[in-house]
Amino acid sequence: MIDGRRKTGRALRWGMIGGGQGSQIGYIHRSAALRDRYFDLQAGALDLNPERGRSFAAELGIAHDRAYADYGALLAGEAARPDGVEVVTIATPNNTHYPITRAALQAGLHVICEKPLTFTSAEAEELRNIAQLRGLIVGVTYGYGFYQTIEQARALVASGALGKVRLVNMTFAHGFHSAPVEDLNPAIRWRVDPTFAGPSYVLGDLATHPLYLSQVICPDLKIRRLLCARQSFVASRAPLEDNAMVLMDYGCGAFGTLWTSAVNAGAMHSQKLRIVGEQASLEWWDEFPNQLRLEVQGQPAQVLERGMPYLHPEALADDRIGGGHPEGLFESWATMYERIACAIEAAQQGDHARLAGIRYPDVSAGIAGVRWVEHCVRSADKGGVWIDYR
Ligand code: NAD
Repeated sequence: MIDGRRKTGRALRWGMIGGGQGSQIGYIHRSAALRDRYFDLQAGALDLNPERGRSFAAELGIAHDRAYADYGALLAGEAARPDGVEVVTIATPNNTHYPITRAALQAGLHVICEKPLTFTSAEAEELRNIAQLRGLIVGVTYGYGFYQTIEQARALVASGALGKVRLVNMTFAHGFHSAPVEDLNPAIRWRVDPTFAGPSYVLGDLATHPLYLSQVICPDLKIRRLLCARQSFVASRAPLEDNAMVLMDYGCGAFGTLWTSAVNAGAMHSQKLRIVGEQASLEWWDEFPNQLRLEVQGQPAQVLERGMPYLHPEALADDRIGGGHPEGLFESWATMYERIACAIEAAQQGDHARLAGIRYPDVSAGIAGVRWVEHCVRSADKGGVWIDYR
């Protein structure tokens, strides 16, 4: 139960890079970090436009001398203060994640970075090495992973309630970019430009979310080989895809499929997972995250409700309001930030046992997403062939 009691000794001194006024994702970072007082926003380089960034920083209550023109000035300015920030969030376009994360780690700061963590897995592994050497935490914001129904799904699979898992069927296929909307919207334009987005569009932008969820729910399934086909239905987006289909062979008789799209006309989010076991299946849909369907073969389907005492203890641990009241994406993000705060405190105190017990999207989860996208792109660009997973 989350009821306002602290799980850490104090709020962390926190800075934000990106996530400026009008950005898509900045607000949910602030909402999640500030919600339960695990973080205290003290510094920012919030915007590519320094003036707009400073004026927004003032609105957020950041002191004038800690509202910086760019991330380099923030890292230098904060390092020079005895009370400088300990952790930064990076909520900028994809091409900046690697250099900013690397610079922040080298400055001795913990990092919370948006996904995809980097363009290449070699870059992501380099970040992991720097973080490990310095005892720093890197959190990657797979913010859908902390719904209580996801914890319930994980607990059900672990308990054997489904039997051996046979199939993992995933979608994240919205319709918002069915037309070339990027022509009028710069925040969408960078997503379909490889210079800013990296080697993929929907594979990295959308598909890594259900991929992360599948890894949380079925941690024993490891991809052995994979086949991907990707398309650019809005032709100007090529070489980046706005639709892709992926087949995954887990090498133990189990298979996964993932359809991701930005041209699924008429659809809202359609982020869904169906886990099919020998005896039963689970189904989860992010537009209805308070419910989890459990379908046992030969029995009427059950709809498990968030916050109810019949759930596993892990699924009740982060309950904020009790059953019947809907919680949503903001609560999932707040729980993620709370866990990252606990991980940072454990790292600061050298408490490895506590750190090992905290499930949060760490640097390895970031690497896993980047590596998966690399394999998808390689398979698709060879014409849609099976490739071994390394
Ligand atoms: P956006 O274009 O809406 O906003 C980007 C913000 O970063 C703007 O305020 C811009 O001024 C600022 N910025 C850009 N470069 C900067 C720099 N060098 N220094 C400081 N500020 C800079 O983008 P967005 O949609 O908010 O996406 C940002 C990141 O978040 C992307 O990597 C995206 O993939 C990711 N994202 C993640 C989720 C999620 O669910 N985890 C959802 C949406 C976006």
